[in-house]
Amino acid sequence: MHVVVIGAGIIGVNTAYYLNAAGCAVTVLESNAGVAQEASFGNAGVIAPGYATPWAAPGMPGKILSYLFKADAPVRLRPSLDPKLWLWALRWLRECNLERYQRNRERMQRLAFYSRAQLHALRELHDLQYEQSQGYLQLFRSARDLELAEPGIAMLSAANVRHRLLTANECREVEPGLSTDDFAGGLHLPEDESGNCPLFARQIKDLAAARGVRFCFGMKAGAIAADAKQVQVRSGTQILEGDAVVLATGAASSRLLRPLGLRVPLYPVRGYSATVAVREPTYAPQHALMDEAYKVAMTRLGNRIRIAGMAELGGHAGAPRQAALATLIKVARDWFPGAADYGRATYWSGWRPMLPDGPPVLGATRQARVWVNLGHGSTGWAMAAGSARILADLITGRTPEIALDGLTMARYA
Ligand SMILES: Cc1cc2nc3c(=O)[nH]c(=O)nc-3n(C[C@H](O)[C@H](O)[C@H](O)COP(=O)(O)OP(=O)(O)OC[C@H]3O[C@@H](n4cnc5c(N)ncnc54)[C@H](O)[C@@H]3O)c2cc1C
Repeated sequence: MHVVVIGAGIIGVNTAYYLNAAGCAVTVLESNAGVAQEASFGNAGVIAPGYATPWAAPGMPGKILSYLFKADAPVRLRPSLDPKLWLWALRWLRECNLERYQRNRERMQRLAFYSRAQLHALRELHDLQYEQSQGYLQLFRSARDLELAEPGIAMLSAANVRHRLLTANECREVEPGLSTDDFAGGLHLPEDESGNCPLFARQIKDLAAARGVRFCFGMKAGAIAADAKQVQVRSGTQILEGDAVVLATGAASSRLLRPLGLRVPLYPVRGYSATVAVREPTYAPQHALMDEAYKVAMTRLGNRIRIAGMAELGGHAGAPRQAALATLIKVARDWFPGAADYGRATYWSGWRPMLPDGPPVLGATRQARVWVNLGHGSTGWAMAAGSARILADLITGRTPEIALDGLTMARYA
């Protein structure tokens, strides 16, 4: 069977790898010159399945309203006349009640825990090194931050996720570079981890290419025509034929789906990151951390620190917002002032492929031979290996190892 995968972000690259491992001939089309150049490029690198939770949660609408006039707010709505934005926002609001939140969260975590197991299996099998580190520490600036985290902590206990509440001093035992003990404490998740997503993607791409997967860079997929016999993907003047096509096209998916009569309520949500070289390791983070007040992650990636966060809805073609970049640096400087020369940070912004309810969509569509693996939102790196393995199992007629209810196109039927 020949499968055409469109998109070589972390999702597409993993999908190509697993399809090849399952015995398929695979061609990957990617419009950029290499793998992981879009959302998968500058993310925070955190893999925390217990924290794979929907953004649509009880209390979130009120929180977002309170952020509206704060320059350093973690979430921002850029006014826009785009009806897709408002439709997306309405659907998102509908998902904010407790019952739907819990249902969506269970779906995301089912996939995220499975994905971590697949990632570990890949790592062991190929002895992969991708600047990974073990452990995740959430920092609470104030007693109020800690109080707000309590429902989430209760859920971790219910789900048997190992975690420990720490005093500020105990946090400094985990992260000796923290500059202060004048904060309310932290939550340590020793089984969570982090790693360099594009570095991992490159290694998986090299493994897949060595086994015969054909990567076609600089090729943008256009029209897709599928019938009972085959699928054709047009790219410029070329036409690629296959037995199946997988769309792993992240935030750009709608424009390929729509002509096929397929719709998913996907909207791009912008995020930002800063990356800076470690100047003095003693004062730098050793693992991944999250400032809960600003929802900014700080991750050690080799000899660099990645600082990432912010969610911006609407006006997604505009210039990067300077206040967002300044907030990233402020947060890192607050906790690790001596770690780096922050004036030398390089900046990036990317678009999370967000669905309003949270989980991605995996598997078949009602269009014969057209499959999807998209909509991974803010946790695509954490879900990539599992999502890709599931796609390969489905396409090759095997039964996936986890239940797929709530993770397929059926929920938007
Ligand atoms: C600031 C920020 C921080 C984040 N932090 C984390 C984190 O800590 N942990 C985590 O798990 N996730 C995180 N994420 C989310 C994660 O990065 C994404 O969910 C993930 O990268 C999505 O992967 P993808 O392969 O679906 O999309 P992408 O990486 O965007 O890949 C899609 C690819 O498809 C290609 N493509 C699209 N259309 C076409 C076409 N017509 N023809 C050819 N190619 C096409 C694009 O060029 C692109 O390369 C973060 C995201 C942001 C923005």
